[in-house]
Amino acid sequence: MPHLRIPNVRSPFGGSLIGKTFVTRPIFQETIELLGKHTEVRSNPDDRVLSKSELIRNLADVDGAITLVTDTVDREILESARQLKVVANFGVGFNNVDVDSASSLGIAVTNTPGVLTETTADLAWSLLMSAARRIPEADRFVRAGRFKAWGPQMLLGQDVFGKTLGLIGLGRIGQAVARRARGFDMRTLFYDPELVPESTIEALGVRRATLDEIYREADFISLHVPLLPETKHLLNDRTFALMKKTCVVVNTSRGPVVDEKALVRALKDGRIAAAGLDVFEREPQIEADFFDLDNVVLAPHIGSASTETRLRMSMMTAENLLAVLNGNRPPNLVNPDVWERRRR
Ligand code: NAD
Repeated sequence: MPHLRIPNVRSPFGGSLIGKTFVTRPIFQETIELLGKHTEVRSNPDDRVLSKSELIRNLADVDGAITLVTDTVDREILESARQLKVVANFGVGFNNVDVDSASSLGIAVTNTPGVLTETTADLAWSLLMSAARRIPEADRFVRAGRFKAWGPQMLLGQDVFGKTLGLIGLGRIGQAVARRARGFDMRTLFYDPELVPESTIEALGVRRATLDEIYREADFISLHVPLLPETKHLLNDRTFALMKKTCVVVNTSRGPVVDEKALVRALKDGRIAAAGLDVFEREPQIEADFFDLDNVVLAPHIGSASTETRLRMSMMTAENLLAVLNGNRPPNLVNPDVWERRRR
């Protein structure tokens, strides 16, 4: 039985401080203030990713850490942080933390799910509209001083309203995207291997389809799947060949879901019309060929990047961290086994 680091005694907030915390990158001041009310808090003042040795040094004497998806928190770091009880990760994904090691060391790991659904759906729509109506290209055109007169055939894009939208993955974000499609009077097809309740399908006004039906029929295809072995390179040469030449592809899920080399070929050869990407196969490296293409809109993984959502995510990290230091089960625990063992 591993030594569990979670405190067993429920201690009310207020009064004396309940531990030491470290924040790996600058986050919202409101969060630092909340942490500061209950803990002795230190924070990396520079907006840069700390090295492994810096993480080891800074986590050596703390009870809680707020980490970001850019921090690789491996076993060595967790083992060297002898007082650490909680890693509160900023983001819904937590693949940057060695959760198995954390569990075996009795360290709770938390994330920030749910709050970014609507914001990410908004971004998917922003990319869809930007690519369909060539907004970034139009912006570059104006800035280059090329707008001399209104022209009947200048920068023609595609209509969005009344078209067919294909959603691959109808989970939280896919459903939020489908709700927005109703306002555009679209016919929405979806593919999801899970059983989506009939009541949800009816409420969203969507229709179940096979993947190939989506590839053949959709004017816009938006990806909302997790990255799994079976979703890696879901879009590839074969699938781009099935799509309409006017199709616009949007990816706000995970980069490796799309074979980027195949996407470059499809965009260059006019096998599809355009793409909008928030995520990349080798993030933050960008496939160099994209820079030469006007028909791809590129965003640096900003799906959840609204002030309101990022503030909510930031506060959630502190709430999760403080819950653990206070002896309470945190609201967003990703390794519940740590807690179950503690209760036995
Ligand atoms: P979710 O778990 O609610 O939904 C995912 C859906 O995909 C589920 O309904 C699941 O059944 C379905 N699915 C699984 N395998 C599939 C397959 N092979 N084909 C089709 N569907 C499949 O997740 P979510 O909150 O909607 O997030 C979806 C994705 O968006 C995740 O990969 C997440 O990491 C990503 N995301 C990105 C950003 C960003 O900043 N760009 C922000 C939040 C989430």
